[in-house]
Amino acid sequence: MKREKIIIPQILHDQMVEHGRMALPYEACGMLSGNRQEVMSIWPLQNEWKSDRRFFVSKQVVEQTIQKANDLGEQILAIYHTHPSTEPKPSHYDIKNHLDKNIKMVIVSYKANTPTVKWYRIMNDYYQECYVSIKSS
Ligand SMILES: [Zn+2]
Repeated sequence: MKREKIIIPQILHDQMVEHGRMALPYEACGMLSGNRQEVMSIWPLQNEWKSDRRFFVSKQVVEQTIQKANDLGEQILAIYHTHPSTEPKPSHYDIKNHLDKNIKMVIVSYKANTPTVKWYRIMNDYYQECYVSIKSS
């Protein structure tokens, strides 16, 4: 299957990595919205579980965020979460609880000194990495 390509401005990419860093040692999460394959807004959310292995956001918060993005004429393109001390690979739990197949999963890992960011397309019990281009503004 053809790999999908995503474009994200450098400033939003950095903001996401920074949000995750501030939340350490817990997992952080948030949403990215935009048009087609280009990210235009970031929505940092609260991990309601304060855990280093899981994240949880209530349905109400998810719906409000979708609405706020829609109000700007944008769609939710991805949900991001962090892995404070493990590889940037989706866990079984991540895949099982992924909201929607049309929404990408972004994982930011702080396992190494330099954070790693990976984008995935989730298809039932299978996932595929996406190409990401970081656009300097
Ligand atoms: Zn995870």
